[in-house]
Amino acid sequence: MQEAEVIKIFNLNTHTIQPEVLQLIPESAARKHNVIPLAILDNSLQVATAEADNVPALQELAVLSKMRISPVPADIKEIQNAIDHNYKSYHEIENQFDIISSVAKTEDGISFADIANAPAVRALDLIISEAVKVRTSDIHIEPQEKRLRVRFRIDGVLSDMMSLHLSAHAPILSRLKIMAKMNIADRSPQDGQFSIKVRSQEIDVRVATADTIYGEMGSLRLLYKSFAARSLSQLGFLPENLKQYENILKSPYGMLLVCGPTGSGKTTTLYASINCLDSKSRKVITIEDPVEYRFKDICQMQVNKRAGLTFASGLRSIMRHDPNVIMVGEIRDAETVRIATQSALTGQLVLSSIHANDTIGCLFRLQDLGIGLFLISAVVIGIVSQRMVRCVCPHCSHLVEAPLEAQIAYRQETGEERTHFLYGKGCNACANTGYLGRVPIIEILVMNKEIRSTLLSGANADEVRSTARKLGMKSMWHDGMLKVKEGITTPTEVLFNVLHE
Ligand SMILES: [Zn+2]
Repeated sequence: MQEAEVIKIFNLNTHTIQPEVLQLIPESAARKHNVIPLAILDNSLQVATAEADNVPALQELAVLSKMRISPVPADIKEIQNAIDHNYKSYHEIENQFDIISSVAKTEDGISFADIANAPAVRALDLIISEAVKVRTSDIHIEPQEKRLRVRFRIDGVLSDMMSLHLSAHAPILSRLKIMAKMNIADRSPQDGQFSIKVRSQEIDVRVATADTIYGEMGSLRLLYKSFAARSLSQLGFLPENLKQYENILKSPYGMLLVCGPTGSGKTTTLYASINCLDSKSRKVITIEDPVEYRFKDICQMQVNKRAGLTFASGLRSIMRHDPNVIMVGEIRDAETVRIATQSALTGQLVLSSIHANDTIGCLFRLQDLGIGLFLISAVVIGIVSQRMVRCVCPHCSHLVEAPLEAQIAYRQETGEERTHFLYGKGCNACANTGYLGRVPIIEILVMNKEIRSTLLSGANADEVRSTARKLGMKSMWHDGMLKVKEGITTPTEVLFNVLHE
Protein backbone atom coordinates (compact mmCIF):
# COMPACT_ATOMS: atom_id res chain seq x y z
CA MET A 1 0.00 0.00 0.00
CA GLN A 2 1.26 3.44 -0.86
CA GLU A 3 1.47 5.82 2.07
CA ALA A 4 1.12 9.55 1.67
CA GLU A 5 4.43 11.28 2.11
CA VAL A 6 4.71 12.71 5.60
CA ILE A 7 6.65 15.93 5.97
CA LYS A 8 8.53 16.26 9.24
CA ILE A 9 7.15 19.53 10.59
CA PHE A 10 4.84 21.17 8.17
CA ASN A 11 5.30 24.88 7.53
CA LEU A 12 1.76 26.22 7.58
CA ASN A 13 2.78 29.84 7.03
CA THR A 14 3.75 29.15 3.46
CA HIS A 15 0.98 26.69 2.61
CA THR A 16 -2.15 27.86 0.85
CA ILE A 17 -5.23 25.90 1.83
CA GLN A 18 -7.91 25.37 -0.79
CA PRO A 19 -11.41 26.43 0.33
CA GLU A 20 -12.78 23.03 -0.73
CA VAL A 21 -10.86 21.06 1.89
CA LEU A 22 -11.92 23.47 4.63
CA GLN A 23 -15.48 22.34 4.15
CA LEU A 24 -14.57 18.79 5.11
CA ILE A 25 -13.85 19.76 8.70
CA PRO A 26 -15.99 22.36 10.46
CA GLU A 27 -14.27 25.22 12.20
CA SER A 28 -15.49 24.05 15.62
CA ALA A 29 -13.84 20.64 15.22
CA ALA A 30 -10.67 22.23 13.91
CA ARG A 31 -10.50 24.45 17.00
CA LYS A 32 -11.39 21.65 19.40
CA HIS A 33 -8.58 19.36 18.22
CA ASN A 34 -6.11 21.99 17.00
CA VAL A 35 -6.05 20.68 13.46
CA ILE A 36 -6.49 22.14 10.00
CA PRO A 37 -7.15 20.23 6.76
CA LEU A 38 -4.44 20.77 4.14
CA ALA A 39 -5.21 18.82 0.98
CA ILE A 40 -6.59 15.59 -0.42
CA LEU A 41 -3.79 13.20 -1.32
CA ASP A 42 -4.15 9.56 -2.42
CA ASN A 43 -7.79 9.49 -1.31
CA SER A 44 -6.99 10.59 2.20
CA LEU A 45 -7.36 13.96 3.82
CA GLN A 46 -4.07 15.47 4.92
CA VAL A 47 -4.58 17.20 8.24
CA ALA A 48 -2.01 19.32 10.05
CA THR A 49 -2.12 18.45 13.74
CA ALA A 50 -0.19 19.25 16.88
CA GLU A 51 -0.99 15.82 18.33
CA ALA A 52 -0.46 13.27 15.57
CA ASP A 53 -0.86 10.40 18.08
CA ASN A 54 -4.28 11.48 19.38
CA VAL A 55 -6.17 8.54 17.87
CA PRO A 56 -9.70 9.38 19.17
CA ALA A 57 -9.43 12.88 17.69
CA LEU A 58 -8.31 11.54 14.32
CA GLN A 59 -11.16 9.04 14.37
CA GLU A 60 -13.63 11.84 15.00
CA LEU A 61 -12.22 13.77 12.03
CA ALA A 62 -12.51 10.69 9.83
CA VAL A 63 -16.19 10.42 10.74
CA LEU A 64 -16.80 14.13 10.12
CA SER A 65 -15.02 14.24 6.77
CA LYS A 66 -15.98 10.72 5.68
CA MET A 67 -12.36 10.29 4.63
CA ARG A 68 -9.25 8.51 5.73
CA ILE A 69 -7.09 10.95 7.70
CA SER A 70 -3.40 11.33 7.07
CA PRO A 71 -1.90 13.38 9.94
CA VAL A 72 0.94 15.82 9.29
CA PRO A 73 2.77 17.13 12.37
CA ALA A 74 2.77 20.91 12.66
CA ASP A 75 3.34 23.61 15.24
CA ILE A 76 0.28 24.34 17.40
CA LYS A 77 0.65 28.14 17.11
CA GLU A 78 0.85 27.93 13.34
CA ILE A 79 -2.25 25.75 13.29
CA GLN A 80 -4.21 28.22 15.39
CA ASN A 81 -3.10 31.08 13.16
CA ALA A 82 -4.07 29.10 10.10
CA ILE A 83 -7.53 28.41 11.56
CA ASP A 84 -8.06 32.12 12.27
CA HIS A 85 -6.84 33.05 8.86
CA ASN A 86 -8.44 30.39 6.68
CA TYR A 87 -11.83 29.90 8.23
CA LYS A 88 -12.24 33.67 8.58
CA SER A 89 -15.87 34.58 8.38
CA TYR A 90 -16.28 31.90 5.81
CA HIS A 91 -17.89 29.57 8.26
CA GLU A 92 -20.31 32.24 9.37
CA ILE A 93 -21.20 32.98 5.75
CA GLU A 94 -21.99 29.28 5.21
CA ASN A 95 -24.12 29.40 8.35
CA GLN A 96 -26.13 32.30 6.99
CA PHE A 97 -26.91 30.30 3.88
CA ASP A 98 -27.87 27.24 5.83
CA ILE A 99 -30.52 29.44 7.39
CA ILE A 100 -31.61 30.70 3.95
CA SER A 101 -31.81 27.28 2.35
CA SER A 102 -33.88 25.95 5.20
CA VAL A 103 -36.46 28.74 4.92
CA ALA A 104 -36.58 29.23 1.19
CA LYS A 105 -36.70 26.06 -0.84
CA THR A 106 -39.43 27.18 -3.23
CA GLU A 107 -39.54 26.38 -6.95
CA ASP A 108 -38.22 29.68 -8.28
CA GLY A 109 -35.64 30.19 -5.61
CA ILE A 110 -36.37 32.87 -3.19
CA SER A 111 -38.93 35.53 -2.46
CA PHE A 112 -38.28 39.22 -1.94
CA ALA A 113 -39.03 38.90 1.74
CA ASP A 114 -36.31 36.31 2.10
CA ILE A 115 -33.76 38.51 0.42
CA ALA A 116 -34.49 41.43 2.65
CA ASN A 117 -34.09 38.83 5.32
CA ALA A 118 -31.00 39.06 7.46
CA PRO A 119 -28.94 36.05 6.27
CA ALA A 120 -28.31 37.21 2.68
CA VAL A 121 -27.67 40.76 3.83
CA ARG A 122 -25.32 39.63 6.54
CA ALA A 123 -23.54 37.17 4.23
CA LEU A 124 -22.84 39.72 1.51
CA ASP A 125 -21.66 42.21 4.14
CA LEU A 126 -19.29 39.56 5.45
CA ILE A 127 -17.94 38.80 1.98
CA ILE A 128 -17.27 42.49 1.33
CA SER A 129 -15.77 42.98 4.76
CA GLU A 130 -13.43 39.99 4.25
CA ALA A 131 -12.50 41.42 0.87
CA VAL A 132 -11.63 44.81 2.33
CA LYS A 133 -9.61 43.16 5.10
CA VAL A 134 -7.26 41.63 2.52
CA ARG A 135 -7.16 44.74 0.26
CA THR A 136 -9.22 43.25 -2.55
CA SER A 137 -9.83 45.34 -5.66
CA ASP A 138 -12.41 43.03 -7.26
CA ILE A 139 -14.82 40.41 -5.97
CA HIS A 140 -16.06 37.77 -8.41
CA ILE A 141 -19.17 35.78 -7.58
CA GLU A 142 -19.32 32.91 -10.04
CA PRO A 143 -21.90 30.13 -10.15
CA GLN A 144 -20.47 26.78 -11.22
CA GLU A 145 -22.08 23.41 -11.77
CA LYS A 146 -21.99 22.40 -8.11
CA ARG A 147 -20.75 25.36 -6.08
CA LEU A 148 -20.84 29.12 -5.95
CA ARG A 149 -17.26 30.27 -6.25
CA VAL A 150 -16.14 33.57 -4.72
CA ARG A 151 -12.78 34.92 -5.86
CA PHE A 152 -10.89 38.04 -4.79
CA ARG A 153 -8.34 39.98 -6.81
CA ILE A 154 -5.58 41.10 -4.46
CA ASP A 155 -2.69 43.20 -5.77
CA GLY A 156 -3.68 42.24 -9.30
CA VAL A 157 -3.81 38.48 -8.72
CA LEU A 158 -7.02 36.43 -8.48
CA SER A 159 -7.44 33.77 -5.83
CA ASP A 160 -10.22 31.48 -4.72
CA MET A 161 -11.59 32.64 -1.40
CA MET A 162 -14.80 30.78 -0.79
CA SER A 163 -16.77 27.97 -2.26
CA LEU A 164 -20.37 28.26 -1.10
CA HIS A 165 -23.37 26.01 -1.43
CA LEU A 166 -25.43 26.76 -4.55
CA SER A 167 -28.40 27.66 -2.36
CA ALA A 168 -26.48 30.87 -1.64
CA HIS A 169 -26.49 31.88 -5.30
CA ALA A 170 -30.00 33.30 -5.84
CA PRO A 171 -30.22 35.26 -2.58
CA ILE A 172 -26.73 36.69 -2.86
CA LEU A 173 -27.23 37.87 -6.46
CA SER A 174 -30.62 39.33 -5.63
CA ARG A 175 -29.25 41.13 -2.60
CA LEU A 176 -26.38 42.46 -4.71
CA LYS A 177 -28.79 43.74 -7.35
CA ILE A 178 -30.90 45.47 -4.74
CA MET A 179 -27.86 47.17 -3.27
CA ALA A 180 -26.70 48.31 -6.72
CA LYS A 181 -30.22 49.54 -7.57
CA MET A 182 -30.64 47.09 -10.44
CA ASN A 183 -33.74 45.31 -11.62
CA ILE A 184 -33.71 41.98 -9.79
CA ALA A 185 -36.10 40.27 -12.19
CA ASP A 186 -34.09 41.19 -15.29
CA ARG A 187 -31.34 38.73 -16.18
CA SER A 188 -29.82 40.70 -19.06
CA PRO A 189 -26.40 42.28 -18.34
CA GLN A 190 -26.72 45.19 -15.92
CA ASP A 191 -24.46 47.58 -14.10
CA GLY A 192 -24.94 49.67 -11.03
CA GLN A 193 -23.20 50.90 -7.95
CA PHE A 194 -23.45 51.56 -4.26
CA SER A 195 -21.34 53.08 -1.50
CA ILE A 196 -20.47 51.32 1.69
CA LYS A 197 -18.40 51.97 4.79
CA VAL A 198 -16.31 49.00 5.87
CA ARG A 199 -13.67 49.01 8.61
CA SER A 200 -13.91 52.82 8.69
CA GLN A 201 -13.06 53.01 4.98
CA GLU A 202 -15.42 54.61 2.53
CA ILE A 203 -15.76 52.50 -0.57
CA ASP A 204 -17.65 52.96 -3.83
CA VAL A 205 -18.60 49.62 -5.32
CA ARG A 206 -19.23 49.26 -9.06
CA VAL A 207 -21.30 46.20 -9.81
CA ALA A 208 -21.87 44.31 -13.05
CA THR A 209 -24.00 41.21 -13.57
CA ALA A 210 -24.36 38.89 -16.56
CA ASP A 211 -26.05 35.58 -17.15
CA THR A 212 -23.80 32.54 -17.63
CA ILE A 213 -24.73 28.92 -18.36
CA TYR A 214 -24.91 28.29 -14.60
CA GLY A 215 -26.84 31.45 -13.79
CA GLU A 216 -25.96 35.04 -13.09
CA MET A 217 -22.44 36.04 -12.10
CA GLY A 218 -21.61 39.24 -10.30
CA SER A 219 -18.43 41.31 -10.41
CA LEU A 220 -17.73 44.00 -7.84
CA ARG A 221 -15.00 46.60 -8.29
CA LEU A 222 -14.07 48.18 -4.95
CA LEU A 223 -12.94 51.79 -5.19
CA TYR A 224 -11.34 52.95 -1.97
CA LYS A 225 -11.87 56.67 -1.49
CA SER A 226 -8.58 57.04 0.38
CA PHE A 227 -6.86 56.06 -2.87
CA ALA A 228 -8.19 59.08 -4.71
CA ALA A 229 -6.67 61.43 -2.19
CA ARG A 230 -3.21 60.10 -2.97
CA SER A 231 -0.60 62.59 -3.94
CA LEU A 232 2.11 62.02 -6.51
CA SER A 233 4.67 61.43 -3.77
CA GLN A 234 2.56 58.58 -2.43
CA LEU A 235 2.49 56.75 -5.75
CA GLY A 236 5.88 55.15 -5.27
CA PHE A 237 7.93 56.98 -7.92
CA LEU A 238 11.64 57.08 -7.09
CA PRO A 239 12.79 60.65 -6.23
CA GLU A 240 14.51 61.35 -9.55
CA ASN A 241 11.46 60.24 -11.54
CA LEU A 242 9.12 62.18 -9.29
CA LYS A 243 11.06 65.38 -9.90
CA GLN A 244 11.04 64.83 -13.65
CA TYR A 245 7.33 64.12 -13.69
CA GLU A 246 6.43 67.12 -11.54
CA ASN A 247 8.43 69.33 -13.88
CA ILE A 248 6.42 68.12 -16.88
CA LEU A 249 3.19 68.79 -14.98
CA LYS A 250 4.24 72.40 -14.37
CA SER A 251 3.95 73.10 -18.08
CA PRO A 252 0.91 75.33 -18.77
CA TYR A 253 0.08 73.57 -22.03
CA GLY A 254 0.92 70.52 -24.07
CA MET A 255 0.07 66.85 -23.92
CA LEU A 256 1.16 64.50 -21.16
CA LEU A 257 0.38 60.84 -21.73
CA VAL A 258 0.44 57.82 -19.44
CA CYS A 259 0.68 54.49 -21.22
CA GLY A 260 0.63 50.82 -20.37
CA PRO A 261 -1.67 47.81 -20.65
CA THR A 262 -4.99 47.44 -18.77
CA GLY A 263 -4.43 47.25 -15.02
CA SER A 264 -1.09 49.06 -15.10
CA GLY A 265 -2.30 51.85 -12.83
CA LYS A 266 -2.64 54.57 -15.49
CA THR A 267 -5.79 56.01 -13.90
CA THR A 268 -4.17 56.16 -10.47
CA THR A 269 -1.27 58.17 -11.89
CA LEU A 270 -3.65 60.52 -13.72
CA TYR A 271 -5.72 61.06 -10.57
CA ALA A 272 -2.64 61.76 -8.47
CA SER A 273 -1.50 64.22 -11.15
CA ILE A 274 -4.82 66.06 -11.00
CA ASN A 275 -4.61 66.04 -7.22
CA CYS A 276 -1.36 67.96 -7.29
CA LEU A 277 -2.61 70.63 -9.73
CA ASP A 278 -3.80 73.90 -8.38
CA SER A 279 -7.49 73.46 -9.16
CA LYS A 280 -8.59 76.67 -7.38
CA SER A 281 -6.97 79.04 -9.85
CA ARG A 282 -7.21 76.74 -12.85
CA LYS A 283 -10.29 75.25 -14.42
CA VAL A 284 -9.86 71.50 -14.56
CA ILE A 285 -12.36 69.41 -16.53
CA THR A 286 -12.27 65.67 -17.02
CA ILE A 287 -14.08 63.27 -19.31
CA GLU A 288 -13.93 59.71 -18.00
CA ASP A 289 -15.39 56.27 -18.63
CA PRO A 290 -16.49 55.88 -15.91
CA VAL A 291 -15.71 58.47 -13.22
CA GLU A 292 -13.96 56.37 -10.58
CA TYR A 293 -13.29 58.94 -7.90
CA ARG A 294 -14.88 62.28 -7.26
CA PHE A 295 -12.82 65.43 -6.67
CA LYS A 296 -13.93 68.62 -4.97
CA ASP A 297 -12.85 71.47 -7.23
CA ILE A 298 -12.94 69.64 -10.53
CA CYS A 299 -15.69 69.26 -13.10
CA GLN A 300 -15.94 65.64 -14.04
CA MET A 301 -17.96 64.34 -16.98
CA GLN A 302 -18.79 60.72 -17.60
CA VAL A 303 -18.97 59.06 -21.00
CA ASN A 304 -22.53 58.00 -21.74
CA LYS A 305 -22.83 56.44 -25.15
CA ARG A 306 -26.60 56.08 -24.97
CA ALA A 307 -26.89 59.83 -24.46
CA GLY A 308 -24.38 60.46 -27.24
CA LEU A 309 -21.62 61.55 -24.89
CA THR A 310 -18.36 59.97 -26.08
CA PHE A 311 -14.75 60.92 -25.36
CA ALA A 312 -14.71 62.88 -28.61
CA SER A 313 -18.04 64.73 -28.21
CA GLY A 314 -17.33 65.39 -24.52
CA LEU A 315 -13.94 66.78 -25.34
CA ARG A 316 -15.44 69.04 -28.00
CA SER A 317 -17.92 70.47 -25.49
CA ILE A 318 -15.22 70.89 -22.83
CA MET A 319 -13.39 73.21 -25.23
CA ARG A 320 -16.30 75.66 -24.95
CA HIS A 321 -15.94 75.86 -21.15
CA ASP A 322 -12.66 77.73 -21.00
CA PRO A 323 -10.57 74.99 -19.39
CA ASN A 324 -6.92 75.24 -18.34
CA VAL A 325 -6.42 71.55 -17.80
CA ILE A 326 -8.28 68.69 -19.46
CA MET A 327 -8.06 65.07 -18.45
CA VAL A 328 -9.29 62.57 -21.03
CA GLY A 329 -9.67 59.13 -19.42
CA GLU A 330 -8.41 57.32 -22.46
CA ILE A 331 -7.43 58.09 -26.01
CA ARG A 332 -8.43 55.20 -28.23
CA ASP A 333 -9.70 56.64 -31.49
CA ALA A 334 -8.59 59.03 -34.17
CA GLU A 335 -11.23 61.67 -33.46
CA THR A 336 -10.45 61.94 -29.75
CA VAL A 337 -6.74 62.20 -30.38
CA ARG A 338 -7.31 64.87 -33.04
CA ILE A 339 -9.36 67.11 -30.71
CA ALA A 340 -6.99 66.45 -27.80
CA THR A 341 -4.02 67.47 -29.93
CA GLN A 342 -5.77 70.65 -31.00
CA SER A 343 -6.50 71.63 -27.41
CA ALA A 344 -2.93 70.94 -26.35
CA LEU A 345 -1.78 73.11 -29.22
CA THR A 346 -4.08 75.99 -28.35
CA GLY A 347 -2.95 76.45 -24.79
CA GLN A 348 -4.43 73.72 -22.60
CA LEU A 349 -2.64 71.11 -20.58
CA VAL A 350 -4.07 67.78 -21.72
CA LEU A 351 -3.56 64.64 -19.65
CA SER A 352 -4.61 61.27 -20.93
CA SER A 353 -3.90 57.58 -20.97
CA ILE A 354 -3.28 55.47 -24.03
CA HIS A 355 -2.72 51.80 -24.70
CA ALA A 356 0.93 51.39 -25.73
CA ASN A 357 3.84 49.24 -24.58
CA ASP A 358 6.36 51.93 -23.79
CA THR A 359 7.00 55.64 -24.18
CA ILE A 360 8.51 55.45 -27.66
CA GLY A 361 5.82 53.00 -28.78
CA CYS A 362 3.32 55.61 -27.61
CA LEU A 363 4.74 58.27 -29.97
CA PHE A 364 4.26 55.91 -32.89
CA ARG A 365 0.81 54.89 -31.64
CA LEU A 366 -0.22 58.54 -32.01
CA GLN A 367 1.06 58.40 -35.57
CA ASP A 368 -1.04 55.25 -36.19
CA LEU A 369 -4.05 57.22 -34.96
CA GLY A 370 -3.48 59.73 -37.70
CA ILE A 371 -1.44 62.50 -36.07
CA GLY A 372 1.52 63.67 -38.13
CA LEU A 373 5.03 63.47 -36.67
CA PHE A 374 5.38 67.24 -36.78
CA LEU A 375 2.26 67.74 -34.69
CA ILE A 376 3.30 64.97 -32.30
CA SER A 377 6.67 66.54 -31.72
CA ALA A 378 5.00 69.92 -31.22
CA VAL A 379 2.35 68.96 -28.65
CA VAL A 380 3.74 66.05 -26.62
CA ILE A 381 5.63 67.31 -23.58
CA GLY A 382 6.14 64.00 -21.84
CA ILE A 383 5.13 60.36 -21.73
CA VAL A 384 5.11 57.96 -18.80
CA SER A 385 5.01 54.25 -19.40
CA GLN A 386 4.22 52.05 -16.45
CA ARG A 387 3.48 48.60 -15.02
CA MET A 388 2.40 47.69 -11.51
CA VAL A 389 4.57 45.35 -9.47
CA ARG A 390 3.69 43.87 -6.11
CA CYS A 391 5.62 44.99 -3.02
CA VAL A 392 7.36 42.46 -0.80
CA CYS A 393 5.39 41.99 2.42
CA PRO A 394 7.48 43.64 5.15
CA HIS A 395 6.05 41.30 7.80
CA CYS A 396 7.37 38.06 6.35
CA SER A 397 10.23 39.03 4.03
CA HIS A 398 13.48 37.07 4.10
CA LEU A 399 16.41 36.52 1.73
CA VAL A 400 15.88 33.86 -0.90
CA GLU A 401 18.04 32.79 -3.83
CA ALA A 402 16.40 34.21 -6.96
CA PRO A 403 16.14 32.32 -10.29
CA LEU A 404 19.26 32.70 -12.42
CA GLU A 405 17.57 34.83 -15.11
CA ALA A 406 16.46 37.26 -12.40
CA GLN A 407 20.02 37.46 -11.05
CA ILE A 408 21.37 38.18 -14.54
CA ALA A 409 18.75 40.84 -15.24
CA TYR A 410 19.52 42.49 -11.92
CA ARG A 411 23.25 42.52 -12.64
CA GLN A 412 22.74 44.03 -16.08
CA GLU A 413 20.72 46.94 -14.74
CA THR A 414 22.57 47.68 -11.51
CA GLY A 415 26.07 46.32 -12.22
CA GLU A 416 25.85 44.51 -8.91
CA GLU A 417 26.44 40.78 -8.37
CA ARG A 418 23.74 39.39 -6.13
CA THR A 419 22.13 35.98 -5.67
CA HIS A 420 19.73 36.51 -2.77
CA PHE A 421 16.81 38.93 -2.69
CA LEU A 422 13.96 39.77 -0.33
CA TYR A 423 10.85 37.66 -0.87
CA GLY A 424 7.81 37.25 1.37
CA LYS A 425 7.17 33.84 2.91
CA GLY A 426 3.45 34.50 3.17
CA CYS A 427 1.78 35.45 6.43
CA ASN A 428 -1.57 36.61 7.71
CA ALA A 429 -0.82 40.27 6.98
CA CYS A 430 -0.44 39.56 3.27
CA ALA A 431 -3.16 36.88 2.93
CA ASN A 432 -0.36 34.34 2.42
CA THR A 433 0.76 35.86 -0.86
CA GLY A 434 4.13 37.22 0.30
CA TYR A 435 3.21 40.55 -1.25
CA LEU A 436 1.53 43.61 0.22
CA GLY A 437 0.41 46.50 -1.98
CA ARG A 438 1.75 47.56 -5.35
CA VAL A 439 3.96 50.27 -6.82
CA PRO A 440 4.40 51.37 -10.41
CA ILE A 441 7.66 50.84 -12.24
CA ILE A 442 8.03 53.54 -14.81
CA GLU A 443 9.88 55.02 -17.73
CA ILE A 444 9.62 58.76 -18.39
CA LEU A 445 10.23 60.36 -21.73
CA VAL A 446 10.78 64.10 -21.46
CA MET A 447 10.34 65.69 -24.86
CA ASN A 448 13.23 67.90 -25.86
CA LYS A 449 14.97 69.29 -28.93
CA GLU A 450 17.11 66.22 -29.62
CA ILE A 451 14.21 63.79 -29.45
CA ARG A 452 12.05 66.07 -31.59
CA SER A 453 14.68 66.29 -34.30
CA THR A 454 15.36 62.52 -34.21
CA LEU A 455 11.65 61.91 -34.57
CA LEU A 456 11.32 64.38 -37.44
CA SER A 457 14.35 62.93 -39.25
CA GLY A 458 12.23 59.85 -39.96
CA ALA A 459 14.00 57.62 -37.42
CA ASN A 460 12.30 54.38 -36.42
CA ALA A 461 11.25 53.44 -32.88
CA ASP A 462 14.57 51.77 -32.02
CA GLU A 463 16.54 54.80 -33.15
CA VAL A 464 14.37 57.22 -31.18
CA ARG A 465 14.66 54.92 -28.16
CA SER A 466 18.41 54.84 -28.35
CA THR A 467 18.56 58.66 -28.59
CA ALA A 468 16.32 58.90 -25.53
CA ARG A 469 18.49 56.41 -23.62
CA LYS A 470 21.61 58.38 -24.52
CA LEU A 471 19.91 61.45 -23.10
CA GLY A 472 19.33 59.64 -19.84
CA MET A 473 15.91 58.00 -20.14
CA LYS A 474 15.82 54.99 -17.80
CA SER A 475 13.75 51.96 -18.79
CA MET A 476 10.99 50.32 -16.74
CA TRP A 477 13.43 47.44 -16.26
CA HIS A 478 15.92 49.78 -14.72
CA ASP A 479 13.37 51.42 -12.46
CA GLY A 480 12.14 47.96 -11.45
CA MET A 481 15.62 46.74 -10.57
CA LEU A 482 16.27 49.88 -8.51
CA LYS A 483 13.12 49.00 -6.58
CA VAL A 484 14.48 45.48 -6.15
CA LYS A 485 17.71 46.97 -4.83
CA GLU A 486 15.73 48.88 -2.22
CA GLY A 487 13.89 45.73 -1.22
CA ILE A 488 10.55 47.15 -2.40
CA THR A 489 9.78 44.38 -4.89
CA THR A 490 11.30 41.12 -6.18
CA PRO A 491 13.24 40.56 -9.43
CA THR A 492 10.65 37.90 -10.29
CA GLU A 493 7.85 40.49 -10.20
CA VAL A 494 9.80 42.85 -12.46
CA LEU A 495 10.59 40.08 -14.96
CA PHE A 496 7.02 38.87 -15.00
CA ASN A 497 5.41 42.27 -15.42
CA VAL A 498 7.75 43.77 -17.98
CA LEU A 499 7.98 40.67 -20.16
CA HIS A 500 4.35 39.63 -19.92
CA GLU A 501 2.49 41.64 -22.49
ZN1 LIG B 1 3.43 38.60 4.68
